[in-house]
Amino acid sequence: MSKLAIEGGTPARSKPLPPNYPGASVMGAEEAEQASRTILARSPFRYYGPGMQHAVQALEDAMAKDLGVPYVLGVTSCTAALIVALKALGIGYGDKVIVPAKTFLATPGAVVCAGAVPVFVDVDESLNLDPGDLERVMDDEVKAIIAVSILGNPVDMEPVMAFARKHGLYVIEDVAQSCGAKYKGSYTGTIGDIGVFSFQMNKVITAGEGGALVTRDPQLFDRAVRYHDQGMFRQKARYEMDSPEETNAFIGQNYRMSELTGAVMIEQWHKLDGIVAAMKKQCGSIRASLAAELPTMRFRKTADPDGDIGSNLGMIMPSAEAAQQFVKALHAERIGVYILYGGKPVYMIPQLFHQQTAEKDNFPFNYPFEQPVTYTENMCPSAVDLIPRTVYLPVSPTLTDQDVREIVEGIVKVYKHFFVQV
Ligand SMILES: *Cc1c(COP(=O)(O)O)cnc(C)c1O
Repeated sequence: MSKLAIEGGTPARSKPLPPNYPGASVMGAEEAEQASRTILARSPFRYYGPGMQHAVQALEDAMAKDLGVPYVLGVTSCTAALIVALKALGIGYGDKVIVPAKTFLATPGAVVCAGAVPVFVDVDESLNLDPGDLERVMDDEVKAIIAVSILGNPVDMEPVMAFARKHGLYVIEDVAQSCGAKYKGSYTGTIGDIGVFSFQMNKVITAGEGGALVTRDPQLFDRAVRYHDQGMFRQKARYEMDSPEETNAFIGQNYRMSELTGAVMIEQWHKLDGIVAAMKKQCGSIRASLAAELPTMRFRKTADPDGDIGSNLGMIMPSAEAAQQFVKALHAERIGVYILYGGKPVYMIPQLFHQQTAEKDNFPFNYPFEQPVTYTENMCPSAVDLIPRTVYLPVSPTLTDQDVREIVEGIVKVYKHFFVQV
């Protein structure tokens, strides 16, 4: 067996892997042309301008058609979409929302910004939420579940929806990292009451920033539209003082999507299928080769192998130390694998753990809940165990077959060196 690069051997690859920005890596003339059309029309705002291009509307229509949902709202980010979703559902001060222990800070952060308090559910070997742990965090003050599909791998939504329906909870799907993923034939984001998408640089498709909210419910959509636009009704007649709906009005924020974002996102949206197909193919081929050569390697589980977009291959190492060793050795081979979120549950981020907000009296954590909310390090033991042991290989849609061969060669070399007795 050849020598590890970390011990002075020749690296499996002569250059690093391409950066894992799937959408940005295929950005080109199409996006430039759409953006330039918007600029030359001098109409970068969605609701008025001298030569409106209706780019945001076109994005919303294309998403609605392809996802098979009636309502889509473009917003400024997925964080905004989460806040708008919670407000559309009427969730706020005095409410608890279930959030998985493994997610980006934006998920529990949006709950706090909406005035509610997150409670954390453990993960299983899918590294998504464990539906079997929902009962543990349930009480009368819980109003919703945010199901987060981490890194392209869909949440097992059937038991989540069954639990939610049984307890009268709303379900928001945070598919910021899993645009284009499917669960049992349906796009993730279209299964719960509301789905939220991110178009930030690090996500599947991107305009640098941006987000969207999707729903099948006209009332939720109407509330979302208003909350994202200062509480304004789209049909201005409904905003009159003597309108019968005036009592139903509320103050909102500004989370409106720019036409420039919409213009870029239309083309990115059209490229999504190609991006997903390329990632799935190469990820599937890497996984199959590794499984054949390394029978003891454990992979991250998935509730729907066919629906996983293949943007990242999750490999579960025997221990946290082993995972770190594996990452370090593969970096020397110029294969940029990584451990997500510093190997820690999201609730270990200090400001969240200590329930510190920018508000007076630490609103909203100051609510006198009947069942007080406290966070302890080991409240989600599987997350504590599995997150630091799970190593991800990013799979760019631009990987060539040669890249795939070198990646497999490097991983096999390192894994055998550390974990296979000869
Ligand atoms: C990135 C991310 C968000 C936030 O998305 P922005 O568009 O950057 O606000 C929310 N949830 C998850 C799981 C994410 O990965």
